[in-house]
Amino acid sequence: MDHRFDVKNRFADGAQYIAGASRPGTSGNQHSVVDPATGDAVYTYELAGAADVDAAVAAAKAALPGWSGATPGERSTAMHRFSEVLAEQADDLAFVESLQCGKPLRLSAGFDVPGTVDNTAFFAGAARHLEGKAAGEYSADHTSYVRREPVGVVGSIAPWNYPLQMAAWKVLPAIAAGNTIVLKPAELTPLTSLMFARAATEAGIPDGVVNIVSGAGKEAGEHLVGHPDVAMTSFTGSTGVGKRVAEIAIRTVKRLHLELGGKAPFVVFDDADLEAAVHGAVAGSLINTGQDCTAATRAYVQRPLYDAFVAGVADLFAGIRLGDPFDPSTDLGPLISHLQRDRVAAIVDRSRAYATVVTGGEAPGDKLAAGAFYRPTLITGAAQDSEIVQSEIFGPVLVVLPFDSDDEGLALANDTPYGLAASAWTRDVFRASRATREMKAGCVWINDHIPILSEMPHGGYKASGFGKDMSAYSFEEYTQVKHVMYDNTAIVRKDWHRTIFGDR
Ligand code: NAD
Repeated sequence: MDHRFDVKNRFADGAQYIAGASRPGTSGNQHSVVDPATGDAVYTYELAGAADVDAAVAAAKAALPGWSGATPGERSTAMHRFSEVLAEQADDLAFVESLQCGKPLRLSAGFDVPGTVDNTAFFAGAARHLEGKAAGEYSADHTSYVRREPVGVVGSIAPWNYPLQMAAWKVLPAIAAGNTIVLKPAELTPLTSLMFARAATEAGIPDGVVNIVSGAGKEAGEHLVGHPDVAMTSFTGSTGVGKRVAEIAIRTVKRLHLELGGKAPFVVFDDADLEAAVHGAVAGSLINTGQDCTAATRAYVQRPLYDAFVAGVADLFAGIRLGDPFDPSTDLGPLISHLQRDRVAAIVDRSRAYATVVTGGEAPGDKLAAGAFYRPTLITGAAQDSEIVQSEIFGPVLVVLPFDSDDEGLALANDTPYGLAASAWTRDVFRASRATREMKAGCVWINDHIPILSEMPHGGYKASGFGKDMSAYSFEEYTQVKHVMYDNTAIVRKDWHRTIFGDR
C-alpha cells in the first residue's frame, strides 16, 4: 500500500480541530481508526469530551460576528479558494478516505473527492445568491421586506459511510449562509473531516468558522446537541439515533435537520431495458459496499422479467472482485468494520429461515479473511413484511421480489417506513411519470439509480427525515427569515390604534 500520506505524523497533534488549530481530546478515552481491509489500527487518538465540545462551540461563537458580518462576496471568495485547496489535495484526500473506510480508491478518487470539490465550488457561488422572496408595500402604509439571516452556531453530526462528503454537505451550506459550525464526524472516520477543516483554514476561512470534534456519539454528540449556545442541529445517521438527537435538541428548541436511514426500492416494469436494469441494480446496490443511504436495496421486478433479472444480477454479482481498496482492479472493498460485517451477516443468516440466498451470503476467506469483507448477496423469496425487506441492512445485499400489476409494484415500493430515494425502470413515459408522482421519496430516478448533483436537493420523506442537503434548498435549513416592516406615513395616531384608544 502507498503510504505517501503518513497519517500518524500528519495527525500527531490530535484529532480535534478548534479555532484553526489541531489538538488532542480530553475525554480520557482512546479510539483507533482501523483499516477495515486489514483490521490494522492506522491511527489512535483521544476522543473529544464535553470540555472539547465546549471549546469548539466557544470558538464558533467567537467567530460568528465576523463571518456572518462578512459580505456574501467575501465569503464566496474564500470558499472558491477552499475548493481550489481541496482540488490540490485530491490525491491525499482520496488516499485517506480509502484507508479509513476501506472503499476502493477508484470510488474515493472518482466520486467522493471530486463530488466534494464540486460541492464546495457550488456553495462558493451560491453564497452570493441568498435572497428574500418578498419586498414591497403589502399594506399601503408600510414597506416590508424579508431578510435572510444565518441561524448562528450549527452543531452537526455525520456518519462514517462517506465521511468527506458528509462533512462537506454539513459544513458548506452552513458557512455559505454565514453560520459557523462544529462538526462531529463518526469516531471511526474522523481523518478526512479534519483535512477538510484544515483546508478551510489554508484557504483563508477565519479560525473558528469550521471546527471538528472527534468524539463518541453518546458523550461528545449528545453534549453538542444539547449545548445552549448551539442554535441548530444538523444530523445525518440512522433513524434510531436521529430520534434520540431530536429528543435532546427539542429541550433547547433548536432548529433541526435530520438525514436518516433509507431502504430504496428499485422498480422494474415489464417494458424496461433488462440489461440496463440489471447493471443499474448491481452498481446501485453495491456502491460503497452497499453502505449508502440511497443504495438500491429492494428490487421489485414485474413477473415477465423476473427470472431473467435474477439470473442477470446473480451472474454479475459472481464476477465482482473483492480485494485491496488500493488495487485498481478491485470492485468491492470491505464494510466499514468487522462489527458492521457481522451485523449484515446476522441479518442475512436470519433470512435463510424464510428466503433463499441465491448468491453470496458469506465472508471470503484466504487473503481477505482478516478484513471486514462480505460477498455480494442476492436474496429472493422473502415476504414483503420480512426483516430483510423492511429494515436497513447497510451492506452489499439486494433482495428481489416479483410483482404483477403496476399498482402492486408501486404499492410495494412505498411499503417501508423509509422514503429517501427510489427508482423506476421503464421505457413508457406514462409509467415513468406515474412513478415519479406516486413514489414517496425525496429523490426518484428514472432508468438510473444513485447519481447526485450539487445543484439538486438531497433529503428524505417519512422516517428518512426532513430538510435538504446540497442545492440552494439547503439554505432553507441554514437560514432564518426575518420580516422587516417600515412605517411609511410618519402619522402619530395610526389607524389601527383605534383598537386601544377607541374614538378618543
Ligand atoms: P449512526 O446513527 O450510528 O451514527 C451517526 C453519527 O451519530 C455518528 O457520528 C455517531 O457517533 C453519532 N451518534 C451516535 N449516537 C449518538 C447520540 N446518542 N447522540 C448524538 N450523536 C450520536 O449512523 P452510522 O452507522 O454512522 O451511519 C449509517 C446510517 O447513516 C445509516 O442509517 C444511513 O442510512 C444513514 N445515512 C443517511 C444519509 C442521508 O443522507 N439520509 C447519508 C448517509 C448515511
